[in-house]
Amino acid sequence: MFEVTILGTSAAIPTHRRRPSAQVVTINDRHHLVDCGEGTQMQLLRHKVKYARLDAIFISHLHGDHVLGLPGLLNSLSLYERNFPLKLVGPAGLKKLLDFIFEQTHSYLNYELEFVATEDFSPGDVVYETPKYKVILLPLEHRIFCRGFQFLETNKRPKFDFYKAKALEIPNQYFSLLKQGNSITLDTGRVVTPDEVLIPADPPLSFAYCSDTRYSEVLVDYIRDTHLLYHETTFLENLKERAAETHHSTAREAAEIARLAKVHQLVIGHFSARYKDLTPLLDEARAVFPNTHLAREGYVYDLKGIS
Ligand SMILES: [Zn+2]
Repeated sequence: MFEVTILGTSAAIPTHRRRPSAQVVTINDRHHLVDCGEGTQMQLLRHKVKYARLDAIFISHLHGDHVLGLPGLLNSLSLYERNFPLKLVGPAGLKKLLDFIFEQTHSYLNYELEFVATEDFSPGDVVYETPKYKVILLPLEHRIFCRGFQFLETNKRPKFDFYKAKALEIPNQYFSLLKQGNSITLDTGRVVTPDEVLIPADPPLSFAYCSDTRYSEVLVDYIRDTHLLYHETTFLENLKERAAETHHSTAREAAEIARLAKVHQLVIGHFSARYKDLTPLLDEARAVFPNTHLAREGYVYDLKGIS
């Protein structure tokens, strides 16, 4: 299982239909929250994301629309009596910010917050790892220090074709040797090689989260061939200068990054509150990269369905 749930699609100011940035990446039933704008905990409840399965939170940068929901969420986890550690990956200032808020509000967390400062790593470094997947830091160029995150499956093993093994009349005792990649010799003298009974593993799935950033081709090498790319699209191309000034991207620029990186699918979000109708943003991006979709709150992307 590898899914991405969009919780917020607005840029700096929320609208009555769009909330600030937040997404949940779910891999094998474990949740990872990426950015935590104001109101994210209500979105988590609304979309039935179970807190008990939340293992880690990743914060791209310290602008309010990406982080102001975090103190409230961490406090609620404590009130829900969480009793196992939570990994928090983000800029070093985040720790200071939380310590100050918790001190001034006399809040106490009854679980351990394992903080990882993104400044201690370089783009391309692994900042979080489990036996089945890892998270890599991505270089983003914003007005303040900002990093994106790429979730990538690892250690995918070939599957054993039980029916093929049975059809070849291979006794059960040889199965584990074949699964481990060894050839075996049957009593008849026939040699069976692993590739006769192993189905090659599917290519590892990956999701890249890139918000907020100005147009930067430096990103392309890091996200090449990614299955699903979320790239911010704050403006239309006719506000390209405004985008450059504020270190944001236009729809055309996001699509250009997707095209250069040959990603499989692009989702655009982080829309300026000035856009009530998002169709022009979608049309502009699709003109460059046809497999583009608008981020919609509550929508779940199943990466297994993206070829
Ligand atoms: Zn933002």
